[in-house]
Amino acid sequence: MTQDLLRQTLWFDPAELLIGGHWRPCDRHLPVENPSTGQIIGQIARADAATVDEAVTAARTALAGDWGRLGAAERGRILARIGRIVSDRAEALAVLESLDVGKPLAQARADALALARYMEFYAGAADKVMGHTIPYQHGYTAYTLHEPHGVTAHIVPWNYPMQIIGRSVGAALAMGNAAVLKPAEEASLTALAFARIAVEAGLPAGALNVIPGLGEEAGAALAAHPGVNHISFTGSVGVGIRIQSAAARNVVPVTLELGGKSPQLVFADADLDRALPFLVNAGVQNAGQTCSASARILVERSRHAEVVERMAARYSRLRVGPALADLDLGPLISARQKALVEGYMALAGDLSVAATGTIEADAPPGGHYVAPRLLADVRPDHRLAQEEIFGPAQVIIPFDDEDEAVAIANGTDYGLVAAVWSENGARQLRLARALRAGQVYLNNYGAGGGVELPFGGTGKSGHGREKGFEALYGFSTLKTIAAWHG
Ligand code: NAD
Repeated sequence: MTQDLLRQTLWFDPAELLIGGHWRPCDRHLPVENPSTGQIIGQIARADAATVDEAVTAARTALAGDWGRLGAAERGRILARIGRIVSDRAEALAVLESLDVGKPLAQARADALALARYMEFYAGAADKVMGHTIPYQHGYTAYTLHEPHGVTAHIVPWNYPMQIIGRSVGAALAMGNAAVLKPAEEASLTALAFARIAVEAGLPAGALNVIPGLGEEAGAALAAHPGVNHISFTGSVGVGIRIQSAAARNVVPVTLELGGKSPQLVFADADLDRALPFLVNAGVQNAGQTCSASARILVERSRHAEVVERMAARYSRLRVGPALADLDLGPLISARQKALVEGYMALAGDLSVAATGTIEADAPPGGHYVAPRLLADVRPDHRLAQEEIFGPAQVIIPFDDEDEAVAIANGTDYGLVAAVWSENGARQLRLARALRAGQVYLNNYGAGGGVELPFGGTGKSGHGREKGFEALYGFSTLKTIAAWHG
């Protein structure tokens, strides 16, 4: 049945890859698995090092041709057209994503609309990246220009393909780079659909090349390619280290968007009625497979029991089932991810399990379902409170005062995002500074994901910023021109 749905939804052949404006078949293939059933529902291309080389060459050719000669406003118009088509096809894109990554339909729909919004945002921003004129010595006029890096590589994970493509490819194209996109082997369908839309919208040949394939094969070849001028990588810390090493060998800049173990700090004066949905949703959205998931809930001791009880009540109502059933949680992406998460859950041992959600009785047995789990009273140094699980598990940790809360919050290798729940304005401002994170939320979590808000990590969560206007600086290099005219 899902195969029929896939056939109805796909308006293109997913086994082809895009190089230099041409859709081409590939000799080798990778299977497409539906995580909700475990069934193989199609196949995608498996690019190798030679294909990567062709894609990089095609991108270079585009820079020297039509794409490189376009003005910023025209690049923006093309992005705007892409955004409009994405928005018109949001439902089909959502179904594709649900089938490919197991994401509940409403969450996949939100990703498709976010992709459209990224295109809209970067369309408007493309012709507004301005340099400076610099007051300098008599006889000189000096100014700066933001220029594209050239060929940008985009290596993206499977958990939010559309959003991550939007924020990195969108900003790169707005600045006039030519992009080579290597989607995750587990989730390439919406990347391919996006590329079809981009071609339809009039993006010149070679400005975007899409080469699905394995990480250690196509991904590694792309990261190491000497023709690449910038690498944007979103994924795990281990692979991020390899990417940065490869970039170092070619002396090219790299943006690393890696993992997290993000805390929410709940003080005794917090508005718990407002906080509660955020506390839970931030842990279970996309079945916890979110870089900015909130895996640690830190609660001032006087309200610890109350928060445990109220979060547990919500957990016990959470339902897990097939993506198209659109429940609270879908399956995890793969059997491998399920085994990893279950390994972590086994570490809980005699920790107090405050609550679990429920897997629907009729969920297909081949699907990779894991019931969400809430653990109370966890020590901050426990592995479950330190390591990224990337599944639906949250720990609750009590604290006694603000200093201790900050020490615990900052006490992991990561630093992606953090939230403070308190009605005390001075404390909000103190903690906004004290917390080690790329984004801090005061009395909210995630701020609705805003495409306008620069995003990125500190520590092992990575470096560089994507999203918002800031990303345009990351996807460009600054040139200073000094003219002597006497
Ligand atoms: P992953 O690192 O295994 O894979 C990410 C991408 O890298 C995939 O396209 C993969 O094919 C490729 N890859 C794998 N090995 C490679 C290699 N040797 N050389 C080049 N490329 C290679 O990560 P994942 O399991 O797909 O994603 C989960 C991780 O991503 C989590 O740690 C999560 O926190 C992180 N993530 C971070 C953000 C963020 O914005 N900070 C967003 C989403 C996911």
